[in-house]
Amino acid sequence: MEEKDLKISIAHLYPKLLNLYGDIGNIITLKKRCEWRGITVDFEDVNIGDKISEHDIYFIGGGQDKQQEEVAGELYLQKDFLTEERERNAVFLGICGGYQLMGHYYQPHDKDRLNGISLMDAYTVAGSTRFIGNVTVKTSIVSPGSLVGFENHSGLTYLQGETKPLGIVEVGNGNNGKDKTEGGRYKNVFGTYLHGSFLPKNPHFADYLIALALEKRYGEKFVLSKLDDRIEEDTHLSLVGKSY
Ligand code: GLN
Repeated sequence: MEEKDLKISIAHLYPKLLNLYGDIGNIITLKKRCEWRGITVDFEDVNIGDKISEHDIYFIGGGQDKQQEEVAGELYLQKDFLTEERERNAVFLGICGGYQLMGHYYQPHDKDRLNGISLMDAYTVAGSTRFIGNVTVKTSIVSPGSLVGFENHSGLTYLQGETKPLGIVEVGNGNNGKDKTEGGRYKNVFGTYLHGSFLPKNPHFADYLIALALEKRYGEKFVLSKLDDRIEEDTHLSLVGKSY
């Protein structure tokens, strides 16, 4: 099949509440990198009260503890459906607060624990320090083997079982500032603390997610056509290894 004959559906979960630091830039990147190739994109915002329907990619951004509280209950009601979607190899990308809710729970400071939806075997507890700054990560998931972004979180995330990190922190704190891991992956479920937003500065990772979503939809692997990523790649490389 040619790219112009392909379609992908994307759901943005709770954009009115979880969209810290312009995390919507991740949605724009996914949409544009499909449209630039002629791939049709069906898109849906899912807000409080909406029933989540079947999609190829689900995106959930970051937010302060208060917004996470508002979303956690809604997400938990749809945990079984989203777990079935994970088993159908749907692609999930969660950023920071959204990432935290994809684990078993997020325990804020002196507040009730927020149940997560356990799409990955991980948990988060609020730490005493807020991690703020640029992050560079060495990864083996994509090539070039680097991811860059900006972190702002007090949550400390710990991975367990078959959940693996996106990579190892070279600059910054990542999941918890202790074990040098950043992000998490289980099957096609991905989470990261990298705001910025994440995908515009990591176009190779955006294409990796698009290819996974197409494979889930059509049952075959696709090698995406090359785009002119000079600006994105220059931006990415200007940040790799930088500690400032
Ligand atoms: N409230 C969470 C924390 O502070 C997530 C913050 C965010 O999404 N940037 O860890």
